[in-house]
Amino acid sequence: MSAVNSYATPQDGQPAPFAIPTDLLIGNAWIASSTGKRIDILDPANEQVITSVADANVAEGIAAVDAAAAAAAAWAATPPRKRADILLACFHGMMEQQEWLAQLISIENGKALTDARGEVAYAAEFFRWYAEEAVRITGDLSLSPSGANRILVQYQPIGIALLITPWNFPAAMATRKIAPALAAGCTCILKPAEETPLTALAVAEIMRRAGVPDGVVNVLNTSDPGPLCSAILHDPRVRKLSFTGSTEVGRILLREAADSVISSSMELGGNAPFLILDDANLDDAIEGAMIAKMRNAGEACTAANRFYVQRGIHDAFVAKLVDRMGAMKMGPGLADGTQCGAMINRAAIDKIESLVADAVAKGARIELGGETPAGGGFFYPPSVLSNVQPGSEILHTEVFGPVAAIIPFDDPEEAIALANATEYGLAAYVYSDNLKRALQIAERIECGMVAVNRGLVSDAAAPFGGVKQSGLGREGAHHGLLEYCEAKYIAVSW
Ligand code: NAD
Repeated sequence: MSAVNSYATPQDGQPAPFAIPTDLLIGNAWIASSTGKRIDILDPANEQVITSVADANVAEGIAAVDAAAAAAAAWAATPPRKRADILLACFHGMMEQQEWLAQLISIENGKALTDARGEVAYAAEFFRWYAEEAVRITGDLSLSPSGANRILVQYQPIGIALLITPWNFPAAMATRKIAPALAAGCTCILKPAEETPLTALAVAEIMRRAGVPDGVVNVLNTSDPGPLCSAILHDPRVRKLSFTGSTEVGRILLREAADSVISSSMELGGNAPFLILDDANLDDAIEGAMIAKMRNAGEACTAANRFYVQRGIHDAFVAKLVDRMGAMKMGPGLADGTQCGAMINRAAIDKIESLVADAVAKGARIELGGETPAGGGFFYPPSVLSNVQPGSEILHTEVFGPVAAIIPFDDPEEAIALANATEYGLAAYVYSDNLKRALQIAERIECGMVAVNRGLVSDAAAPFGGVKQSGLGREGAHHGLLEYCEAKYIAVSW
């Protein structure tokens, strides 16, 4: 613990605001796991252990449900304005620690500090947005069509929520769930990813200091998430599951949730197409491509995975993308000037290498990168593949790394068909200076979010989510709040 705390001392010389907790947060206290087991946390930039966190077992999972249940009635009855004030204090608490939290994210996740700073601001914004939403949970009143009675609809907190998050945005994926859960009046149990628990633990401590009552947010880390999450989902007091992660694990959790018919929100994998039409502004398209591909070094569910580029602009686009990606500085997240940080682990590097090798074997040309550097740390360089052939695995699997796969097309109809030829449907990007045409294409792409002449879709005020096997439900916006509410209908005569 001391290692990571001194490691994460902000560069402006301010001391860490508090020692990062590394135990389990259950009810009113940080407690060590009863088994004494710990999970080592690695710095992906040098593969060194930076600290360890308590490893929860099933009994501790149920203890967290006990704590969430004990806090539930009082939190649901807390006036919305008071809940809003606490959420706003969480926003300020995070932003006051933006630099320190960004360094912590960079250390345990490997991402460049600039990416981490952006993540902290994005993550904190969910607290501010849902502070504003907490006081706007309005119902409906109408006359029934027969005229016999009134239909009164009231939104009530759904109940205890299990929130499971991935490692790629360790702060934002947690706050995107916790903030609407608390705004709606629910208590929760957060289960962060094994690779990046420290950020979630730091955010939980900030929330405690901001006035979140005991038991409203509980945090458990575990090296064996299957049995722990299964036990929690089979406890009849738990009524909500919100998961962000791979489609594969999402399917397992949907089966688990089915036993108790638990309301489930799923933010799963993506395979985003990025369409560039001949009439697009090349410089704008490059700017957008750099963000859509290289934010978080490609480790984003919304990351552009496949670039479909119309023949007339294709060669210029490839040349310019190679220039821009080739000029990026790869290195440890905290090192000066780093733009492309480390990948999360060895398995991530293995996956990228295998997708690149498969694409090349099927006829793709390596325009840039394409080779893992020697030395320690989980690094993969910014890479560009052109002439990627149909049937290549990289067109069907999210590469989750800094590799741009480029495919030329002639007819936009062909590009739309290719974009839709996947079981995923999270995000897509369209570049064209003909807005009418771009919007027509946006409507026909099978996905939850389309960015038109932009490289970024994420916004706390917008409904984020996917169609097909990319997920169920939406996070952010008013939609995200309703995921934690039940509509209660009261038929009333007066
Ligand atoms: P993952 O599915 O391996 O793990 C996600 C979480 O699930 C982790 O907390 C992990 O501990 C937990 N988990 C794993 N097995 C479990 C089980 N049997 N029961 C309960 N929990 C279990 O995903 P990852 O590798 O951490 O994250 C990368 C994936 O997340 C990518 O596919 C990415 O596209 C997706 N993602 C999606 C969104 C979105 O909003 N749609 C956002 C970020 C990441």
